[in-house]
Parts: sequence; C-alpha cells; structure tokens
Amino acid sequence: MPVYKMYIDGKWIGADETFETINPTTEKIIAKFPKGKDKHVKMAVGAAEDAYKKWSETPPPTRGRLLQNIADLLRKDKQRLGRLVSTEMGKVLPEALGDVQEAIDVFEYMAGEGRRLFGHTTTSELRNKFSMTIRMPVGIMGLISPWNFPIAIPAWKIAPALVCGNTVVFKPSSDTPLCAYELVKILEKAGVPPGVVNFVTGSASDVGEAIVKHPKIHGLSFTGSKFTGEWIVKNAGLKKVGLELGGKNPIIVMDDADLSLAVDGILWGAFGTAGQRCTAASRVIVHKKVKEKLLAALVQRTKKLRLGNPLLKTTDVGPLINKKAQEKTARYVEIGKKEGAKMLCGGKKAFGRGFFHQPTIFTSVTNDMHIAQEEIFGPILSVLEFDRLDDAIEMANDIEYGLSSSIYTKDVSNGFRAVQKIEAGLTYINSSTIGSEVHLPFGGIKGTGHTREAGITGIDEFSYLKTVYVDYSGKLQKAQID
Ligand code: NAD
Repeated sequence: MPVYKMYIDGKWIGADETFETINPTTEKIIAKFPKGKDKHVKMAVGAAEDAYKKWSETPPPTRGRLLQNIADLLRKDKQRLGRLVSTEMGKVLPEALGDVQEAIDVFEYMAGEGRRLFGHTTTSELRNKFSMTIRMPVGIMGLISPWNFPIAIPAWKIAPALVCGNTVVFKPSSDTPLCAYELVKILEKAGVPPGVVNFVTGSASDVGEAIVKHPKIHGLSFTGSKFTGEWIVKNAGLKKVGLELGGKNPIIVMDDADLSLAVDGILWGAFGTAGQRCTAASRVIVHKKVKEKLLAALVQRTKKLRLGNPLLKTTDVGPLINKKAQEKTARYVEIGKKEGAKMLCGGKKAFGRGFFHQPTIFTSVTNDMHIAQEEIFGPILSVLEFDRLDDAIEMANDIEYGLSSSIYTKDVSNGFRAVQKIEAGLTYINSSTIGSEVHLPFGGIKGTGHTREAGITGIDEFSYLKTVYVDYSGKLQKAQID
C-alpha cells in the first residue's frame, strides 16, 4: 500500500500515524496519507512566512508565467488525472476530465492576471494630487477544500492566491488527498518555490482547526458545508474569510418551456456527479399544467440511468463519496416517505459493494418538508408545483441557501423576472443549475456565504486594495478643509 507524504517547505514529510483514502466504487484502500497534527500546521505556517517576502516581491507577470507552466503540465497529464479523480472521488470519467479541465482553465486565466491585477486611478478634490488603488497580497492564506471537485476547487484557490503574491497552507479533504497530492506534485514540478505552497493532510480537528485558528494566517478560503462555514466564522478571529458553502438549487419549469430541454437539464443537474455538487438541482418547481408530462418523461429517463464503475463509458452515475453519504441519502428517502412525499423511482442503495444509491424522484413535495429544505448532497430530486410564476419564485427563495437557480421558459419576460427576483448568486435561463465558467464570478448569498471566487472577483478574495495618494503640490493640503 503506497504511503504518501505532506509537502512542507519544499520537502516531502510523513507523520507518526496515517489514514486511508478509499475508492468509493470498490471500497478498496487506494493509499495512505500522513495524519498531520498541529505541529505540522505550525511548520507549514513557518515555511509560508519565510517564503512570503521573496514571493510577494516577485513581479506578478513572473508569478503568472509559473501558473501558465502549471496549466501546461496539467494539460499534459489530463487523462491520467481524470482517471484518478474518477477512482478516488467516484464521478464519471467525462466529468472527472472536466474537473481537471477546470483546473487548467483557472491556472490559465489567473496566469493572465499576472499582467493585470488592476487597481484603479481616480480624481482628487485637491490640485496636484494623484489618487489610485493597488492590489496587495493578503499574506499567508489557509486554503481548505472539499472532496467533490478534488482538483478544480484547490486550483480555484491556489491559482489566484499565488498570482496575488500570497503563500499558502493547503488542507485537502481527507476523502480525496491523492488528487490534491498529484496537484501539489505538479506545482513542485512547475517550479513553485519551497514554502510558497505547503500541503498538510489530516483531520478537520487536527489540521483544519489549527489552520483556522493560527494567528499568523491572515486569510482563509474555505469551500465546504454550511455547518463548517459557521464554525469557521466563529473561530477565525479577524482573518479575511471567504466561504463557498452549500446549496438547494431550484429549477423552475414554466408551462411554455421546451420540456425535452428541461428534462435534459434536470437530469444533468440532479443526477450528474450523483447529486454531489453545490450547484446540484435538488428541487424542480414545475407549472401544474405541464407537471404530469414533465414527470412522465423525467421518470422514464431517470430509470434508464446506468449506475456503475465511473471509469466505464457505459456508466451514467457513479457512487457517492463514502458510506456516510450513502447512509445520509438513504435516511432522506425514509424522511421523504414519512413526510408524505410520493416516490416515483429509485429509493434504494444499489449493488452490494460501493457507495451507490439509485437516482430518486419525489413528487407531492411541499416547501416545508425536510427533503425540500435541506441539502442532501445525493441523487434525490424533490418536485414541487405552482400555477403563478410569483409563487414559484417565492418557493425558490424560501430556503436558507442562495447559490444557483434556473428557469425554463420561452417567454423572455418570465426569464428576466426570474433573474431579478430569485435570491441566488447564479441564475440560468434554459440551462441547468450547473456549468460555471472560470472567467465569471461564482458564489452565493444567504446560507451559501457571500464570496465570489473565479473571474476578476476571484482576485478580490485573495488580495486587498490599498489606496495611495501622491501629493506633488509641495505644500500641506487638507482634504475636506482646503
Ligand atoms: P465539509 O465542510 O465537511 O468539509 C470541507 C473541508 O473542511 C474538508 O477539508 C474538511 O476536512 C474541512 N473541515 C471540516 N470541519 C472543519 C473545521 N472545523 N475546521 C477546519 N476545517 C474543517 O464539507 P464536505 O463534505 O467536504 O463538502 C461538501 C459540502 O461542500 C457541501 O455542503 C457542498 O455544497 C459544499 N460545496 C460548496 C461549493 C461552493 O462553491 N459553494 C463547492 C463544492 C462543495
């Protein structure tokens, strides 16, 4: 059994104890990783501190060039890495390759930022005085990632953090440390200097909490559950904190919608990645007039989805990440039944081995039910009905989260009404709730957190603006007074 290492100050190091990473399809152990402790976080922060001066003073275009090298190496290794994502995380191969592609895209996009990192210039109320803003690195940043995009999400954080001149301590999810390790290996190969990226594996309580509380870490970028996000907010002190949390994302289907297009989008949104996306479409809010027709087509297509080994071309839906996730999904099936929702298909764990669960659809769901309100993070879809768009929007909004949303309609007025009224960071028209592109802002509102990663706003998360005044009048000038 291979035993991998952590990466601190440019050296690969182990720990006294290890934990295992498991293939969710076979339940077999793939590899062992060091159980990092508080002392490793301290070492990593020390290394990041030592590396900070030189790295933050490296010209941004040079930092950008390094990111381009990383993108190139990732591209060369895309097939191997994609297979690894499927093996360790369980998403089907085309999606796993998309995960790697997203990492390539974000490194490329952020490489270009090396020649931008724009501040702005503006006027002054005084003569012979110049005003502008410039971008500064936050300092040492703690990056904490989940398992569902095991290469893309770390990349979404590492790329902007580095181009802005930060040094980082990175903790991956303990469900997918091998994907994270391979990414760090590529960073090393591309020439990231020692101490600039430090990789510490281990539990949330030993490593994660130590990062959150470390006084020398200036900023945190966290993607994960609302529960953990809330804990972080309470314990991070005055650090700059970015939070990308959960979702319970609705698709509204109007009576004038192209139903076959809507069915495609719902299937992709609800059961892609076995429902384990923060942007997964876990609620469909459908107009009464077209509900039966939509459901008939949806159930028929859902029953045809093939569960299995995510590496095979014949597979549509892979396993859930672990036993706990499989049990949570099964628990919500029971909750849905008890609440009086009607199950139209699915509802069972599948196969004897692997953490599979059948794609499941509940109808007769009302918005007060647990299955309509809580993030299940599995292949369960709740269907609600409406007869006025305003009611549909009200249902869409009556939720603690606010990440993604979608409406299927041929009427441009309905589409724009939804765009204006739905409380979410993303609204799609005639497309599913998933499919973000790296040059556009990504994030939510309400219980999803208020961060905007990716695109130009991604830079805001990993830098701060310094306001600079240059007075060349040669005399004391007083704003608001002179
Ligand atoms: P999680 O919150 O359990 O864990 C995420 C990471 O935080 C892991 O690395 C974990 O070890 C660490 N962690 C847990 N408790 C911690 C603590 N107290 N202090 C520091 N670190 C801690 O989430 P998960 O199960 O890995 O991921 C699934 C969740 O992530 C879902 O809610 C999903 O919606 C969300 N997610 C959000 C986005 C987004 O961009 N909004 C993207 C992907 C996933």
